[in-house]
Order: sequence, then C-alpha cells, then structure tokens
Amino acid sequence: MNRRQLLQGAGAVAAVATVGCRHVPEPARAASPEPPADPWAALDGFCDGIDPPDDRERQQHRQQLQKVLFDTGHDALVVEPGATLQYLGGVRWGRSERPFLLVVPRDGDPWWVVPAFEERKAREQLGEARVRVWQEHEDPYARVDEVLREQGLTERAVAVDEQLRHFVVQGLRDAMGEGRVVDGSALVQAQRMRKRPAELGRLRRANEATKAALRLVAAEGIRPGMRQSELAVAIRAAQLRAGLTDVWVLALFGPNAAFPHGTAQDRALAEDDLVLVDTGGSLHGYRSDITRTWAPGTVAPRAQQAWSVVASAQRAALDRIRPGVTCGEVDAAARAVIESAGFGSDYERFTHRLGHGIGLEVHEHPYLVRDATQVLEPGMTMSDEPGIYEPGRFGIRIEDIVAVTEDGHEVFGPMVDGLEAPFGPEPLRR
Ligand code: ZN
Ligand code: ZN
Repeated sequence: MNRRQLLQGAGAVAAVATVGCRHVPEPARAASPEPPADPWAALDGFCDGIDPPDDRERQQHRQQLQKVLFDTGHDALVVEPGATLQYLGGVRWGRSERPFLLVVPRDGDPWWVVPAFEERKAREQLGEARVRVWQEHEDPYARVDEVLREQGLTERAVAVDEQLRHFVVQGLRDAMGEGRVVDGSALVQAQRMRKRPAELGRLRRANEATKAALRLVAAEGIRPGMRQSELAVAIRAAQLRAGLTDVWVLALFGPNAAFPHGTAQDRALAEDDLVLVDTGGSLHGYRSDITRTWAPGTVAPRAQQAWSVVASAQRAALDRIRPGVTCGEVDAAARAVIESAGFGSDYERFTHRLGHGIGLEVHEHPYLVRDATQVLEPGMTMSDEPGIYEPGRFGIRIEDIVAVTEDGHEVFGPMVDGLEAPFGPEPLRR
C-alpha cells in the first residue's frame, strides 16, 4: 500500500466514524486487483543506519585542532556560526549583528561567548558547556580576551576561522591587539578537508540517496511538455523521501542548460531537449551534489558527441585522483580531453573549474581548478564535474562525488554508463 492509499483508507475510516452505526461499510471485494506497486518504495529508509555526529566525534575534532594550535604557536581559534562551528561544536545558530562565538583554547574545554538574553535558548544546545555572556552594552570581544586571560593564554596568536565577518575580526583586534589576531583558514581547512570514516559514511549515503532518487524520477516522471519547475518538485520530493533534508534542485531543459547555474525561464520539455539536473541535499549536515544529463527523446548527433566527450573527460580526471596529485593536475586532465576532442580550449565551452570539495558545505576546500597546488590526501572528498556548454543549443554536465583513498579513489554511487543508461548499470537499492 502506498502513502496515497493509506490516506484514502484513513479518510474512509473517518467517514464511517462520522455517520456512526447507521452506516454499514461494504466488505472488501476479494476480486479487487492488487494495488499498483509504489515505485518510490525503494527510497523509504534509504538513509537509515547512518548516525549523526555525536559529542565524542566533535570532541575528537576539537582535540585534533588543539594539537595543531599548540604545534603552530596559537593560543586559540575563534569561530562564528557556520560549517566550522557545526564541525567543532555541533551547534546551529543564526548569524546576526550580535556575535555568538566559539572559542577553542589550545587546551581544555571550549568556551561559548553568547548574548546574555539568549543564554537560555543557547543552553538548549550547549547544555552544561562553558558559557560567558555579554550584556547588550558590553563588548563581546572583551569576553573572549577575558576567558583566554583566565586560562593564562595571553601571548600567542589567536587564530580566526576564514568565515569570520570583518566586523568580528576587527572587534577582536580592538580588544586583543591588532597583531595578535591572525588568519586561521589554512589550519582549519587542512583538518576539515580530510574526512574521518564517519563523515565519509554520511557523504557516501547522502550521494547514493540523491542518485537513487534521481534515477527513479527519471524513469517514471518525465513527460513531453512538463515544466522544469515540475520536474524539480518531483526530484525534491524523492530525495526528502529518501531521508535527505535541505534539498535543492536545478532542473534545466534544452538550451537553458547552456547556463551552468540556470536561467529565470521555466521551459517546457521539447522532444529533442536534453535534460540536465544538478541536485543535492543533506544527511546530518553532510551534503550531496550530483549532476546528470540525459535524453528522454531524440538527441542531435552534436549533443550525443558532446555527451560522450564530457563522460570521457570525467573518467580521465577520475583516473588522476589519488594521493600526491595536485588539484590543478586533475582539472587539466579533464580539460585536455575536451580540448583534444575539438570542443575548444581553456574556458571556451568548458566554462568552469572541474570541481570543489564537499562536506558540511556543498562547496568547500579543496578546489579542482587550474594551477591549484593543493595536493590530494586520503580522506579528501570532491566533485568531478566537467561540462560542455553551447549557448542556444545545449548544456551537458556530469557530476559525481569522489573520495581520495590510501591508494586511489572511491566514487559514491554508480557512475554513468552511456547516454542510454545515464544512471549507471545497476539499480540502486538499500
Ligand atoms: Zn552540482
Ligand atoms: Zn558541484
């Protein structure tokens, strides 16, 4: 029984209850045909068994960071709400003009610097953690200075996360001295880029779920004349059913896909349109990001050729992904395939970088872009997403998420098998 039948059943029971004993419901007819199977049932429970990060995991993240702070001569790291704060502290908090700060000293428990009138609300997430409040007329940055002084941390640099807003950085500098507050981007990035097994498990399942959802919608839910927005609604619903949250969808038909991030036009699907869908969601904060381009109807020879070139470029880049290779080399491997196939050099038709890191953010370090010297290490996760865009005709992009392993790489979920099997060779089931 699918969800709609379940609801209809519930409605029938309610109707019987309203009319009371005067109504005798008809017995179910034994000869009634079997209800049609629910094609999305395979998505139910897809993400079961994957746990969210717990206090122990976040403590491991902080301890790893504290060692780095100590070794690199820093007293502390200061973080604002966002991905790094989730990573180290597990707290979701909106950013406003009132600073809400996590201070990770180089040893000991972290401090939270919180607006006084928000303390009770903050405690819902912070529990018994060390909190220092600031009243409306007080200086929140002086509180940061205060907690560090109390711990005898007065001399070394205080690092700030790369996502701190300028006024927060300046406030810390005014309170603790211009030269003492330094950029901590590199040390935070270096740690967040290398995912632990639990993080890899969430990323793997999130990306498999997006692929499973996309495959089912592509198999059942595409019809000529439908709008991009209608397809997007179905793809979103399928991912939510698979257990993802924060789902976003870019669904583009025909020439609209020549704009890599879409246009404002809500095109209706024509017979010879390619469909490009770029979509993802979140599993316990960890993100998916998958793109498929396929042909529900007829396909022009030029588009067919471009599709095969993009698929080859994606494989060529994948073949380069292993520890020790630079991000720039991986980008170059994909670009060389597209150029040698006659689809233009540089950014002519492959108009963007090859890929981006992914984790608690859809786009994070490392970036697979020309000349990038970042060296790949085990545990890094990234997109491999070459494209060819011909304005007025079509746009083609294929995107998978890849993890660097000790001796190579792992792709999360099946890759494309050909334009006839754009979702890979095997049905995805859990
Ligand atoms: Zn994408
Ligand atoms: Zn992407």
